[in-house]
Amino acid sequence: MTIGNKKLGLTTKIFIALILGAVAGIIFHYFIPTSYVRDTVFVNGIFYVLGNGFLRLMQMLVVPLVFCSLVCGSAAVGDTATLGKVGLKTLVFYVVTTALAITVALLVANLINPGIGLDTSSIVVSDVALSQEKISLADTLLNIIPTNPINALATGDMLPTIVFALIVGIILAKLGSKTETVSNFFSQFNDIMMEMTNIVMQVAPIGVFCLIAKTFSGIGFSAFVPLLKYMFSVLFALFIHCFFVYTGMLKTMTGLSPIKFIKKFFPVMSFAFSTATSNATIPLSIETLEEKMGVSRKISSFTIPLGATINMDGTAIMQGVAVVFAAQAYGIDLTMADYITVIATATLASIGTAGVPGVGLVTLSMVFASVGLPVEAIGIIMGIDRILDMTRTAVNITGDAVCTTVVACQNGEVDKDIFNDVA
Ligand code: ASP
Repeated sequence: MTIGNKKLGLTTKIFIALILGAVAGIIFHYFIPTSYVRDTVFVNGIFYVLGNGFLRLMQMLVVPLVFCSLVCGSAAVGDTATLGKVGLKTLVFYVVTTALAITVALLVANLINPGIGLDTSSIVVSDVALSQEKISLADTLLNIIPTNPINALATGDMLPTIVFALIVGIILAKLGSKTETVSNFFSQFNDIMMEMTNIVMQVAPIGVFCLIAKTFSGIGFSAFVPLLKYMFSVLFALFIHCFFVYTGMLKTMTGLSPIKFIKKFFPVMSFAFSTATSNATIPLSIETLEEKMGVSRKISSFTIPLGATINMDGTAIMQGVAVVFAAQAYGIDLTMADYITVIATATLASIGTAGVPGVGLVTLSMVFASVGLPVEAIGIIMGIDRILDMTRTAVNITGDAVCTTVVACQNGEVDKDIFNDVA
């Protein structure tokens, strides 16, 4: 009970930190003139150090936590048939929701018409290079198998890490008592990582406040004005996907209350929002799903890191809207075949988008190229992408959590008493 109360307190604190951070950032941007104290001491000093310090603490947890909890999770499930079934279901769920997300985005964008009548000359075009290393599909598939697992762990390369951890877990289950010492080691190390996550979360309100204050003191509102319609379209599509599609799926496929889900998951969404990185959210997501919603780590330790790596519905939404926006701004007509191509390429692009800030914009060039849109158009939306990146990351990780809850529920791995416990 005490834990429950403490968590509820934390949720409220994070929410307050988010609002106060935005207000402080706006005040710094508009009402405090440039000075050494404002820029060096506060924005690039205190806000930067505390905000990024917190982010680094969360990132520090990702690799050891994902590895240990995945080893323990797959060892606990044991048989490969069940793991395979869970994996396949998760993959199908991820791909279908992403395709659905782009469809929602294309519909919303065609309703709001964000690019029509846009005066492109009023916009400062960012000239950041959009270079991306091109890797073929065959190599992408091959790269899932680590040639050196230690290297995959050291560089935080998620998919090969997941594969190696799964194999270790399956073998631990197979060898049983022969490898009990190693099993115990991973399970105890896992406990250490969960406790570390708990401790780091206690400073989350300060971290969130500083991250948001720094972002808003840098961008203010003025950059948004010419692109308000585009931003509104993205935000509206994200809202529909999150609060109608996800909640509808959760309700119909599990019978669980979407309101309770969103309430309990809110701190994770705030964290994703303030940091714009799905990867760093993994530990908190797994912990929240287990402690507040009773979702077994046997499932989440696998589906959450996988989702943070390949399931990016929010990113796909931004890409769908960006396509319509650019086509309208440049007067290019998109055919039905173009739209289908966009759905296919944006689904692939979102799989290829890493869970770190800003990558969605890089993979957008692949979607633009697929229907012959000028890649330069990306420069127009680059300047305001940060705020959308924050929002879409929150949606990205919510999609992973909804899928995890659905798959876990269908496997009898959700403790409904914990899920329904509002205390
Ligand atoms: N920042 C996003 C994420 O971490 C990826 C992106 O769309 O840029 O999920």
